[in-house]
Amino acid sequence: MAMTPVSALGDLRTARRLVIKIGSALLVEQGRPRTQWLATLADEIARLRQSCEVIVVSSGAIALGAAKLGLAKGGRGSLADAQAAASVGQVELARLWSDALDRHGITAAQMLVTIGDLEDRRRYLNASATLARLLEAGAIPVVNENDSVATEEIRFGDNDRLAARVAQAAGADAVMLLSDVDGLYDRDPRETGAQRIDRVEGVTPEIIAMASSASSSGLGSGGMLAKLQAARIAERAGIALAIVNGTYPAPIARALDNGIGTLFMPQADASARKAWLGGRLAPSGVVSVDAGCAHALDNGASLLAAGLTDIEGEFSRGDLVAIHGPKGERLGQGLVEYTAAECRAILGLREDQQAQRLGYAPRAAVVHRDHMVRA
Ligand code: GLU
Repeated sequence: MAMTPVSALGDLRTARRLVIKIGSALLVEQGRPRTQWLATLADEIARLRQSCEVIVVSSGAIALGAAKLGLAKGGRGSLADAQAAASVGQVELARLWSDALDRHGITAAQMLVTIGDLEDRRRYLNASATLARLLEAGAIPVVNENDSVATEEIRFGDNDRLAARVAQAAGADAVMLLSDVDGLYDRDPRETGAQRIDRVEGVTPEIIAMASSASSSGLGSGGMLAKLQAARIAERAGIALAIVNGTYPAPIARALDNGIGTLFMPQADASARKAWLGGRLAPSGVVSVDAGCAHALDNGASLLAAGLTDIEGEFSRGDLVAIHGPKGERLGQGLVEYTAAECRAILGLREDQQAQRLGYAPRAAVVHRDHMVRA
């Protein structure tokens, strides 16, 4: 079931999969966790979760770790400091989330990702499958950048863009960035007469000019510019994104009930989120399926090995393949979960027969419906 088309902040309540990003300044104050605030947020997350799936993207590792290690500049003095701080702080961050969610009987799951994990298609499939499985199993993924291993060139550097990428990988329909301001203002919000923008239809150069890159907190690395970059990723992927003020207790209700925040409208329909899967790439091979499988694909199912009839070409896991029906007609394309050799090995086999042939536990599908675009 899809989210109702968004036109106002409150519509985010109808999201079916929502990513909530929490910045360092909200979670950490002078090196100490803001546990009471986190408890009110966890209450809200527990309520939201009754009607939608929630993924948390949480910063705070560097700030927490720097305090523990006694590092200067909040651990951001050098890359080595930030990486050491993140590694210490992530342990505490995971515990905070696990405790906060546990009070609602919810299991927290830690996922640390790098930009490569979300941009390399093969690893994107892994991240995406793990997120889906965690949600299905009832856990709340708590994602952060894997700061202690990611180097400068391969870091996102801010969790705003990371949140937008995670939303894309998870097939989420909305992202909420919890910030320390009420949203995007038409000029520096400290100036008199500054007006908050309720709704943005496309992040244009004029919108970017409004962003003051000064973040009042000094703890995070985000700032408004990073949030606009995140909004741009989201809008192109057909995902709604909101910047709301997280500094209040129960900040989500405050924003959604009163419409306080800035909503960035998706600029493409939801199917566009699948478009990057193929991009302008030529498929590396063809997988053909029988009539039963073609019918199942028509009904939105994933492509299973049992329906495979033929494999053409050589491809690796994560490559784009064309999907053909029994008469050679093109049904669509998608990212394949197996190499061509593995596909040949499990051609026509049911799930219980695949493990024996492969020598390891089979994946959920040959091409998952989330990674498939129909012709
Ligand atoms: N990943 C960093 C942390 O956990 C935060 C990045 C950011 O400031 O957005 O501390």
